[in-house]
Amino acid sequence: MKIIVLNCGSSSIKYQLFDMTGKETLARGLVDKIGLHGSYIKHEKNHSDPVRFEGEIVDHQAGIEFLLGILTSKKHGSLKSFGEIDAVGHRVVHGGEQFHDSVKITPEVIKKVSECMDLAPLHNPPNLKGILAIQELLPDVDQVAVFDTAFHQTMPKHAYMYAIPYPLYVKYGLRRYGFHGTSHRYVSQRAYQILKKEPCDIKMVTCHLGNGASIAAIHCGKSVDTSMGLTPVEGLIMGTRSGDLDLGILIYVMQKEEIDIHAANTLINKHSGMLGITGISSDMREIEAAAANNDERAILALEMYYYRVCKYIGAYTAAMNGLDAIVFTGGIGENSPKARAEICKNFGYLGLELDDSKNKQLHGKEAIITRDSSKVKVIVIPTNEELKIAEDTERIIKGK
Ligand code: ADP
Repeated sequence: MKIIVLNCGSSSIKYQLFDMTGKETLARGLVDKIGLHGSYIKHEKNHSDPVRFEGEIVDHQAGIEFLLGILTSKKHGSLKSFGEIDAVGHRVVHGGEQFHDSVKITPEVIKKVSECMDLAPLHNPPNLKGILAIQELLPDVDQVAVFDTAFHQTMPKHAYMYAIPYPLYVKYGLRRYGFHGTSHRYVSQRAYQILKKEPCDIKMVTCHLGNGASIAAIHCGKSVDTSMGLTPVEGLIMGTRSGDLDLGILIYVMQKEEIDIHAANTLINKHSGMLGITGISSDMREIEAAAANNDERAILALEMYYYRVCKYIGAYTAAMNGLDAIVFTGGIGENSPKARAEICKNFGYLGLELDDSKNKQLHGKEAIITRDSSKVKVIVIPTNEELKIAEDTERIIKGK
C-alpha cells in the first residue's frame, strides 16, 4: 500500500510518501512560501540529496498539484502514475471533543473539522484546504484525518476541566485538549516494545521537547493528563511560548502597555519562552552555547526550562500514583544530553539511575539511557509522527 502523508500549514506543506510493505519512506519534501514571493518545493527521493523546484504556488491546491507532478515525474518521481496512490493521511491539529481516533474523511467529518476551526484558527483551515485539494485532484483516493488532540481524549474530566464558570465549557468547549498526541502515542507504543512490557504494566511520562513542547502522563496506553491545554501555549516553557502563566500578568501588561488582543497573543506565543527570557534565541543549541559562555540570562532560562519539566514529571507521578518510565523525544529530548541529565537529576528518590555515558553518547537513535538497576527507565525515542499517520491511514482504510 502506498500512502501520502500531508501536514498542511498556513504557508507550507510537509509531505512524505510511504510504501507500507516495509514501512519505508520513498520520498519526502516541503512545499514552502505558498501564496508568497519565492515559493518552491524541496523534494528528497529515497534519502538522496534534495532537489529544489521553483515556481509560483498560489494556494494549497496548486502546491499539492505541483508535488503530485514531482512524485509521478520520470526523473524525480517514485510513482508511475496517480493510480499507485492508495490513500492520503492528513495531520489535523484540532479534533475538539468530536474525535477520539483517526477517521476516514467523509462529508460529515469535513463538517465536524470545520466546526473545530474556532479552537485552532491558525491550523485547522490549512489542514482542511489540503483535504479539499486532494478531493479535487484525486477524487477516487481515500483520505484519513489523524488528529493531534485525539490521543488525549482519554483524559478524565477532573484533568481536562478548567476552574472557570461551567457554562463557558458548555457554550464554547473551553477545556484542556492537549496536542502532539500523535507523537506521544507513537513514542509510548515504541516504549512498550523496547521495554517488552504490556501497556498496563507501565506508568509513563512522555516528554516531547521541540520548539513546541508538551508532556503527557500515560497509563494502560491511555493519556491521563497532558500539559498543553485549550491551545498549545499552556504548560512547559517553549521556544517562543510562555507555557504556564499567571493570567493576571497578561491583563496587567495589556493595561500598562496598552496593547490589544492581537499583540497580547503575539506576546505569549511568539515573544516569550526561551526567546523572551534570553533575548538571544528560541533555539536550544544557541542557548546552551550562550550558557557555556556564562551568559546569565541563558543560564537562567535553562534552569527555568529544566525546573518546569521536573515539576510536571513530579505532578504526573502523583497523578498516576507511580512512575516506571520517562521517554524523551523532539529535537531537544532526542539531542540534548544536558537537558536529559538535568531533568532526570531530581528523580533519584524514585530510584532513577541515569547512565551518564549512555546518555552522552546517544545521537538520533532509540536507546534506554538508565543503568540496568534503575527502577525508573529513561528512554530516548526519535518521534515519527508521519509514520504514525501513515499507519493509522492504512489501519482505517483496511477497516481494522
Ligand atoms: P519542532 O517543534 O519545530 O518540530 P524540533 O522537534 O525539531 O522542533 O526541535 C527543535 C529544537 O531542538 C530547537 O530548540 C533546537 O535547538 C533543538 N535541538 C536540535 N538539536 C539539538 C542539539 N544537538 N542539542 C540541543 N538542542 C537541539
